[in-house]
Amino acid sequence: MRSPDLLGVGMTSQRTRDRMVDRLARQGIRDRRVLEVMAAEPRHLFLDEALAHRAYEDTSLPIGHGQTLSQPWIVARMTELVLEETPGRVLEVGTGSGYQTLILARLVTELWSVERINALHRRAGERLRRLAARNARLRLADGGHGWSEAAPFEVILLTACAGALPEPLLAQLADGGVMIAPVAQSDGTQWLTRVRREGGSFDIQRLEPVRFVPLLEGVIR
Ligand code: SAH
Repeated sequence: MRSPDLLGVGMTSQRTRDRMVDRLARQGIRDRRVLEVMAAEPRHLFLDEALAHRAYEDTSLPIGHGQTLSQPWIVARMTELVLEETPGRVLEVGTGSGYQTLILARLVTELWSVERINALHRRAGERLRRLAARNARLRLADGGHGWSEAAPFEVILLTACAGALPEPLLAQLADGGVMIAPVAQSDGTQWLTRVRREGGSFDIQRLEPVRFVPLLEGVIR
């Protein structure tokens, strides 16, 4: 049985989560597994208390340090794209609040997630331990270098926008594996992009316009 603050009340209640998921389905999210997990998991615990009542709105929300928890739709869409693959080993770059990490952890076998800001990394770790997401391994590091000890990955997901596709990440993709990443174009627009590795070549597909915080270098302790 889940404790009352995990279940939520009022604006964080099961009814509010169900309404969010109905909206996601209307917006085109088809994968039942994604909708079920998002209906069950407490998104409100990934925000400061003052913002928790807005957790199920169709919007991104601040998590401190100039970063944001992505809107429910983008979390659902990216998770759906991950599940289109056979995701044995998945690497997420940009743990942030840890919400996308949790949703992925419930649906894939093995998950690695990297964050460059220590305060966010630690808080996400506390939340994921509390929610018993035992298959998620977190690391404080510049995710542009990937996680070489755990490579190769069937899927690498970036939750921050790259100017160019980081070479070390491409090198850590399994053959046939995909990288799903927001990528900035020269005109400033960002596109969710899927890069599939086929041997030594990479097939790049632009999916849809998105809006993410930038992928940055280095670690903040
Ligand atoms: N999936 C997260 C999104 C957070 S925003 C959520 O829904 O909460 C993107 C995150 O990527 C931020 O926390 C930012 O600090 C992190 N980030 C940016 N560049 C990074 C890098 N090179 N390595 C690891 N994390 C990075």
